[in-house]
Amino acid sequence: MNYRRLGRAGIKVSELSFGSWVTFGPQIGVGEATEILGYAYEQGVNFFDNAEAYSSGESERIMGAAIAQLGWPRHSYLVSSKFYWGIHDTVNARFTLNRKYLIEAVNASLERFGLDHLDLIYCHRPDAETPIEETVYTMHELVAEHKAHYWGTSEWSADEIRAAIAVAREHHLHAPVVEQPEYNMLTRAKVEVEYKRLLDEEGIGLTTWSPLASGLLTGKYANGIPAGSRASLPGYEWLKEMLTDPKAASIVKQLEPIAKQLDLTMGQLAIGWCLANPQVSTVILGASNRAQLEENLGAQAAHERLTPEIQDNIRKILEAK
Ligand code: NDP
Repeated sequence: MNYRRLGRAGIKVSELSFGSWVTFGPQIGVGEATEILGYAYEQGVNFFDNAEAYSSGESERIMGAAIAQLGWPRHSYLVSSKFYWGIHDTVNARFTLNRKYLIEAVNASLERFGLDHLDLIYCHRPDAETPIEETVYTMHELVAEHKAHYWGTSEWSADEIRAAIAVAREHHLHAPVVEQPEYNMLTRAKVEVEYKRLLDEEGIGLTTWSPLASGLLTGKYANGIPAGSRASLPGYEWLKEMLTDPKAASIVKQLEPIAKQLDLTMGQLAIGWCLANPQVSTVILGASNRAQLEENLGAQAAHERLTPEIQDNIRKILEAK
């Protein structure tokens, strides 16, 4: 496993990491989670991503219980959680980054994980109502009080991230060091265009999500929705349209011969393509069973096979969309 600096922060993350969205809770309990996390760790994965909102806290509970069973030394892994959506239906605890919510939510997350600190905490979305100063000061305090080592953002605009950095700089506070955007062959603009200058100038690390576009880039949705897949789960109907989009299916079909030529699965090609972007610190993988994770970790070999010529062929297919 290769490790990359998280932007300009001092820590290194495995270039492939693992996240629990959708899977932990609806698809996987503590037993299978322990098997999957244990396998990932044996393969050198050192970063595990989660969020308060994933299965309303259940995903954090499952990950915490699995890590406790595995008995990993705390210095050997990084764990993150994200805050914004909230899990309590009261006016100050949903869709917000206010001070009361953030402090209470991080404390509750630590309790569910059974940990005394997280490594990374993220503002899961921007909040246009709470003053940026209030959010930055609260995230700074959570870091200063060792509830987390670093903080970052997820799906903020480049301007919003710059505003947070400016407040932190002016008041000598801990600034955000990482952003968590969606990045895959079908969703590229934010990382490749909007963030370009921000990443170069501020050295923000990227922990990118949905490298397979929820599984679409494996080709598994070519003939409809397979039983047991993410798109077949109750509550995820909203994904169906994206996963069965004929334009996306046609792109996957055109990419498949390239994967074959490189002796990779389509999923490995898609993950390896994300890794080939040097501004990505880690690609967060998702998997609903161990076999998928084994296949996906095989993508480490992929990005070395992506010669400039192959990259160019891929770019032409993606840009023709
Ligand atoms: P992917 O796009 O890689 O999708 C993962 C899903 O695809 C799996 O759960 C599985 O679904 C299917 N899959 C994976 N590997 C294979 C395979 N080899 N063959 C066939 N099917 C496969 O990643 P996620 O969307 O899960 O995102 C990864 C992580 O990123 C999340 O866990 C979370 O930590 C983070 N994230 C962050 C967000 C944010 O807003 N910050 C938003 C979303 C995710 P199935 O088998 O059920 O069909």
